[in-house]
Amino acid sequence: VILAVAIDTPLRRLFDYLPPLHADPRSLRPGQRLWVPFGRRRVIGVLMQLRERSELSPDKLRRALAPVDEEPALDATLLEILDWAAEYYHHPIGDVVAAALPTALRTGAPLEAPRRVWRLTEEGRAAESGLPARAARMRAALQYLKEHAEAAGPELLASGATGAVLKNLQQRGFIEQHELARESIPSVAVRPGPSLNPAQAAAVEAVRDGLGTFRSLLLYGVTGSGKTEVYLHAIATVLARGAQALVLVPEIALTPQLIARFGDRFDAPPAVLHSGLSDGERLAAWRRARSGEARIVIGTRSAVFVPLAQPGLIVVDEEHDASFKQQEGFRYSARDLAIVRAQRHGIPIVLGSATPSLETLARAQRQPETLLSLPHRAADAQPPRLTLVDLRSHAGAQGIATPVLMTMQRHLEAGNQVLLFLNRRGYAPVLFCPKCGWSAHCPRCDAHLTVHGRSQALVCHHCGAQQQAQQQCPSCEAAVKPVGQGTERIEETVRQLFPDAPLARIDRDSMRRKGELEETLARVDRKEVSILIGTQMLTKGHHFPNVTLVVVLNADQGLFSTDFRASERLAQTIVQVAGRAGRAERSGEVLIQTEYPEHALLKLLLDGGYESFASGALRERQQTSWPPFARIALVRAEAPKPIVAMRFLQAAVDAGHGLPRKGVKLLGPAPAPMERRAGRYRAQLLLHADTHGPLQKFLRSWLPRVEALPDAKRARWSIDVDPVELF
Ligand SMILES: [Zn+2]
Ligand SMILES: [Zn+2]
Repeated sequence: VILAVAIDTPLRRLFDYLPPLHADPRSLRPGQRLWVPFGRRRVIGVLMQLRERSELSPDKLRRALAPVDEEPALDATLLEILDWAAEYYHHPIGDVVAAALPTALRTGAPLEAPRRVWRLTEEGRAAESGLPARAARMRAALQYLKEHAEAAGPELLASGATGAVLKNLQQRGFIEQHELARESIPSVAVRPGPSLNPAQAAAVEAVRDGLGTFRSLLLYGVTGSGKTEVYLHAIATVLARGAQALVLVPEIALTPQLIARFGDRFDAPPAVLHSGLSDGERLAAWRRARSGEARIVIGTRSAVFVPLAQPGLIVVDEEHDASFKQQEGFRYSARDLAIVRAQRHGIPIVLGSATPSLETLARAQRQPETLLSLPHRAADAQPPRLTLVDLRSHAGAQGIATPVLMTMQRHLEAGNQVLLFLNRRGYAPVLFCPKCGWSAHCPRCDAHLTVHGRSQALVCHHCGAQQQAQQQCPSCEAAVKPVGQGTERIEETVRQLFPDAPLARIDRDSMRRKGELEETLARVDRKEVSILIGTQMLTKGHHFPNVTLVVVLNADQGLFSTDFRASERLAQTIVQVAGRAGRAERSGEVLIQTEYPEHALLKLLLDGGYESFASGALRERQQTSWPPFARIALVRAEAPKPIVAMRFLQAAVDAGHGLPRKGVKLLGPAPAPMERRAGRYRAQLLLHADTHGPLQKFLRSWLPRVEALPDAKRARWSIDVDPVELF
């Protein structure tokens, strides 16, 4: 028997091993962790397959050292999904499998929370003197227990003890074993929620009817229509059947309200998984999901890989959000993998959004029975009124037009909150010399440096480079000045104009400290803040019931981008941020500042909302043959020397000649829109096909040739299947 093992390396293959000496190969199962020799190291791999033979000659095969656990860490369905993902995204299987395991498990932590632990006895605590002089291992084990109070057997073994050492210490009465009480799987009490309106009730019914079979449902509900209530009711049914629910959200810190509502409704703490956890916390949440002890699992992107004992339902909230796509390394879409996962488990998945991605919307339109609409705000609240403010015909103060200032005044006087949205952090996007036209550029990127901290620092938003800001132009010595607006500058202006209004700014710079965002959101909810200024972070799910005026300070970023997704993203942002205005009895007002009030996108949004925009955009995508009416993949390459990336991609194009390609077009190579970034020269090659099959087939035969090109080692390159950013 040959063991095919996934190991965390950049190589796109499995590694063959002979079974460990003292293990019965029949007891080994795919998904099990194994200690294996790898080069000169000893690493943990995951057994993927048992094979009859290897392509390596027998004398080259090494022997696996030992299984880490007695049972598989990853179940068969999850392994299938990881296999599928590695193939679909053309990413090394070892790295894909590593993405599914918490760091602690990749370094040897036990699979299950320990049931039996070792502790020191009274004698053990004073044992130092009673030990033979050369008993270094015994001493080390005692020391370990002194420091950790208790430890499971595998933990002690990993710290250098052996079974014989532990037995010896036990016989001497220095250590003893304790059983930990096993946490039983609780039955969950569900508290009643508010009653549902007919649209919500119909949506819940549709989810309930399909439990136990795969269906991908789109819950398309305007902001404030009560999508969360639909999730909660559907999940209550899932829990009553003894199954688990997995809920994926864009960002945990921005969803305290959602998590609080789960806590209020269900008498069972959800397992929460996100990037802010320590290794230990992550492992604990992962174990609770795997054992079934956590009935509800809430997490960001990577939670799509968490094992579930009894999967019953998957929910992807704000499914349009770009954060579900991993943008580096293993470039997967958690939303798309969640659909694959639901399919393999045979369970329904609910994708919820007020502004669904065009992919999801097109799919739902092809199968109308999977579209669940919540067309109205709950409790008869009125939708906000949207108005364009033409920046060309209105004077303004530092980026805020006079009519906007007057409207702000009116809302503040009525005791309401005002939200100003600008998707640009920092003080100003450009430092400029009015005399000679010089402007501050990043030395390592083809980009302007952003002015931060009034005029103190210059920061590159692309590579993170920082320097002190000049006060004088380096070429003509005239005084330079910051041009344009960032959130810091808007904050400064608003403080001057509304000195009595308490203000909060929410962006990545002001919310660095852990817990700061939650604190600020709570202050806003307690009405201790009147004016809220912020970036994209404000559009991700948090509701501000006391905000009655939303101002989009600059709608023009994105109107003229060359990325075919830019208009979709802009429409989603405007609709999402507009949805923060007005609740229940108070109807809201939304002002959108623009220099292009005649732009077709803005007109569609104003006249018919997201729906008109989406149908217009879908028609355009169809005519121009972009996703969802085509499939694309992007090869990105970069190198410290100028020509290398372009040369490599040209060679890659040439390597495709003669391969069957059936409608697959290779567009490029072309220099990236920002060619130099962090000191590297970048280029890209776009692959385009009408459907997914031929594109995948071409990639399978083409990528091995690309990998073998001489420049493949000189350029850093990657493949991105279904990219969401084209740059
Ligand atoms: Zn100058
Ligand atoms: Zn830079």
